[in-house]
Amino acid sequence: MDSVNGSSGTAGTSGTHDSQSASLGAQSTPTQAETQEQELRDALAENPQAVAALSALTANTHYAQLSVEQQVQALTAFNAAPNLATATYLQGVAEQTLNPQATPTALTPDAGTLTLDGQTYSIQNGNLIGADGQVAGTIRNDGQVQLNNETTTRSVYDDINTRVQLRETNAAQELQDLVNLHAADPNARLDNVNINREMARLATDVISRARMEGMDMRVVSDFRSVEEQNALFAQGRTAPGRVVTNATGGSSWHNYGLAVDVAFNNANGQPSWPENANWDRYGEIAVQRGLEWGGNWRGINDRPHIEYHPGLGAGEARTMLPAYRQGGLDQVWNNLGLGGR
Ligand SMILES: [Zn+2]
Repeated sequence: MDSVNGSSGTAGTSGTHDSQSASLGAQSTPTQAETQEQELRDALAENPQAVAALSALTANTHYAQLSVEQQVQALTAFNAAPNLATATYLQGVAEQTLNPQATPTALTPDAGTLTLDGQTYSIQNGNLIGADGQVAGTIRNDGQVQLNNETTTRSVYDDINTRVQLRETNAAQELQDLVNLHAADPNARLDNVNINREMARLATDVISRARMEGMDMRVVSDFRSVEEQNALFAQGRTAPGRVVTNATGGSSWHNYGLAVDVAFNNANGQPSWPENANWDRYGEIAVQRGLEWGGNWRGINDRPHIEYHPGLGAGEARTMLPAYRQGGLDQVWNNLGLGGR
C-alpha cells in the first residue's frame, strides 16, 4: 500500500512546475513533533477519548508556540497517560514554559475526589482536603499526588484500586470530568490464590494502561472450578437462562486460573457492559501484552474475556484436564512453564 501511494504521489507532482513542487515539498515535510503526534494518533486510534485529548493538547495556542523539542517532550509526557487530565496539565506546562511568571489553573484540578489508602480527600483547586477539613496535600492534573506527611510523590495511576475524579471548569463555566476512575478490583479477584500470578500481573497491567487512557475498567470474574463451569454450560441448554458459554468443565481457561473477565465501571462505580465502550482498545492492549482476547472469537464474541496460555491455542484448554486431575492447578501451570501462586 505504501509504495502504491508513494508512486502515485510522485506521478501527481511530476507534471507541476519545479518551483511549485519544491514549495509543496517544503510544506509537507513534518516536524519531529508532527511525526510523533501522527504516530500517537495511529497507536491510539481505537481509543477516541485519547485521540480527542491529544487534539485538545495540540490545538492549544500555548502548545503551538513551543519549540519542536518542547512539543516532543509534551507528547512523550502525554503518551505516559494519554487522557484529558494529562492534556490539560500539559497545556498549563506550555503556558508556564512561555511565561515563567504565569500560574496556569490548568496545572491542577478545580474539583474532584481522591481515595488513597482508604482515606478520601475532596479536591479544591489542587488541594487535597481531608475529612477534618484540613489541607492534607496537593494533586496535579497529570495525576501526581504530594501528601504533606510523605516525602515522595505518587501517581493516581500507580494502583488500579485508586478512586480518582479530576474535574475542571470548562469554557461554558461547567465542571467537567477530565478523568473519573473507580476501584478496578474492589473484590480482590486478582488476589484469588486460584488465579495464576503471571495472569494476575498481566491483567493488572492491561487494566492499568486502560485506566491511564481514561477507561474506567474493573475485574468482574476470575476462577471457575470445573464443576462451576459445567453448571454454567448447562445454563440455556438443560437449565434455565440464556447460553453464556460454549465451554464445558475443563475446556475454559477460567478453570485453570488463566482467564479473567473485565468490564467497565458506570458512574456509580458499579459493573457495566456498555455497547459503546472502548472494548476494541481494551482488547488491543491485552493482545499487545501477549494475552488472547475473547472479542476476537467467532461464535460467542466474549469482549470482557482475556486469557493467558503461552504456546497453546484458546481451544486447547481441554488438553490441560489430565494434568489438572493429576496435580491440580500447580501441575497445569508447571506444564505451561508458568510460575506458581
Ligand atoms: Zn471469561
